[in-house]
Amino acid sequence: MEIQNHTSAEDGPRADFHYDVLVVGAGPSGLMAAEQAALAGLRVAIADAMPSPARKFLMAGKSGLNLTKHEDLASFIKNYDAVEPLRPMLNEFGPKEIINFAQSLGQEVFTGSTGRVFPKVMKASPLLRAWLARLQSLSVTLLRRHRWVGPIGTSGIHRFRTPQGALKIQAPALILAMGGASWARLGSDGAWAKDFAQAGIPQSDFLAANIGMQVAWSDHMAPYFGNPLKNVRLSVSGAQSRGEFVITKTGIEGGAVYALGRMLRKSATAKLDLAPQINAADLHKMIASRKLKDSLSNFLRKSVKLGATKRALVFELTQPMVRDSNGLVAAIKNAPLQLSGPCPIDEAISTAGGVMWNALTPELMLKSHPGIFCAGEMIDWEAPTGGYLITACLATGRWAGRAAANYVSAKALL
Ligand SMILES: Cc1cc2nc3c(=O)[nH]c(=O)nc-3n(C[C@H](O)[C@H](O)[C@H](O)COP(=O)(O)OP(=O)(O)OC[C@H]3O[C@@H](n4cnc5c(N)ncnc54)[C@H](O)[C@@H]3O)c2cc1C
Repeated sequence: MEIQNHTSAEDGPRADFHYDVLVVGAGPSGLMAAEQAALAGLRVAIADAMPSPARKFLMAGKSGLNLTKHEDLASFIKNYDAVEPLRPMLNEFGPKEIINFAQSLGQEVFTGSTGRVFPKVMKASPLLRAWLARLQSLSVTLLRRHRWVGPIGTSGIHRFRTPQGALKIQAPALILAMGGASWARLGSDGAWAKDFAQAGIPQSDFLAANIGMQVAWSDHMAPYFGNPLKNVRLSVSGAQSRGEFVITKTGIEGGAVYALGRMLRKSATAKLDLAPQINAADLHKMIASRKLKDSLSNFLRKSVKLGATKRALVFELTQPMVRDSNGLVAAIKNAPLQLSGPCPIDEAISTAGGVMWNALTPELMLKSHPGIFCAGEMIDWEAPTGGYLITACLATGRWAGRAAANYVSAKALL
C-alpha cells in the first residue's frame, strides 16, 4: 500500500488532497470498506490516527484471532442484538465468506471444538500483511498519524491533525470506521462521539461488552487468582451459559461471562453451578452416603470431584453455609455470586453503543449527512466473543465500502 505523510502548506479554505473515497480508521472494518471502494476502480485513501494500522485487530490476534464461528447463518445471526439491520450484511458476508476471505489472503483456517474458526497460525499479522499488500496492489493510500478531527459536515472537505500540522482532504464519500471505545492506547478511543453529538446524530452511550465482572473476593480467594474454572454454569435473569472463566484479582472473566454480558451488566447477583454434570437428585444421594469421617472439603474433592478453586468457591460464596443436604446442594449448584458491575470500559474486548441504526440508511449512510457512511464497531450493535465481532466488522465495512462507491459513481453521472 502506498504510505504517505501528507504535508499541508497551510490551513487554508481549500483541500490539500483529493480522493474519491476517504476511509477513517484502519481497523478491519475500514480496511474492508477501502478494499470494496478500490475494487470499484475509485481513488481511495485510509487515514488512521495511529502510526500503524489495525492495532486492535493485531491485539485480537494475540488470543488466536477468532475470525468467525462455524454455524448455520440462522443460528449465527441470533447472537447479535441488532439482528434485523445486520441481517442483509451477514447474509452476504457471513461465516463462509469470512473463511474464504482469510483463505484468499493465504491463511488456512481451522475450526475448534466449539465451532470457533481461527487462522492456523493463531495470529493476525500474516493475514494483515497480505491484506495490506493486496490493498497496495489496488492503489489504496494509507495515511498514518492522520487524526480526523471533525466536525461532521456536508462540504466534502474533511479535517485532520497530523505531525506536520492541520490538513484538509476532499472526498465526496467519507467512511467513518473509528471503532468503539475500549483499548484507547490502540487507537479506539471513542473520541469521535463528541463530533457526532455536536452534529445531532443519534447515538447510544458506550457500554463495556465482553468484559470481566467485578467481584469483591475475600482474602481467602487470593491463592486462586488466575485459575481457570472449567465446566461451570453461570445463570442470570433466566439466561445461562456453560463453559469456563478465570478467577481474577478483581472478579471473573472469560467466555462464559462474556456470553451473558448484556444481562450481567444490569444485575447485582448471578448464580453459579460448580458441578453442572451432576443433577441435584444425584448430589443428594452422594451427600446421603457421605462417610462421617470425611471432612466437607474431602467429600467435595473425592465424591463431587471439585478441584481446589471450585472447593474454595463453595466456601467463599455461601456464607453462612447450612450443612444439611439442601444447603450443600445449593452451595454447589446454586451459589450466589455478588457482582459489583463490569470492569472498566477501556479493558473491554468490545463496546456496545455508538451510532444508532435510526441515524443510518440501509446503506449505512448518515441520513442527516449524505456521503458520510459508518462501519464496524462504532455502530450500535453488540455480540459475544466467538468471532461474531470481526465478522460483523468485515460485513459492515464491505457494505459501507460498496455503498460509498455506488454513491460516488452516481454523483459522477449527474
Ligand atoms: C484483546 C482483544 C481480543 C479480541 N479478540 C477478538 C477475537 O478473537 N474475535 C473477534 O471477533 N473480535 C475480537 N476482538 C474485537 C475486535 O478486535 C474489534 O471488534 C474490531 O477490531 C473492531 O474493528 P473496527 O474496524 O470497527 O475498529 P477498530 O479495530 O477499533 O479500528 C478503529 C481504527 O480507527 C482509528 N481511529 C479512531 N479514531 C480516529 C480518528 N479520530 N482519526 C483517525 N483514526 C481514528 C483507530 O486508530 C483504529 O485503528 C478483540 C478485541 C480485543 C481488545
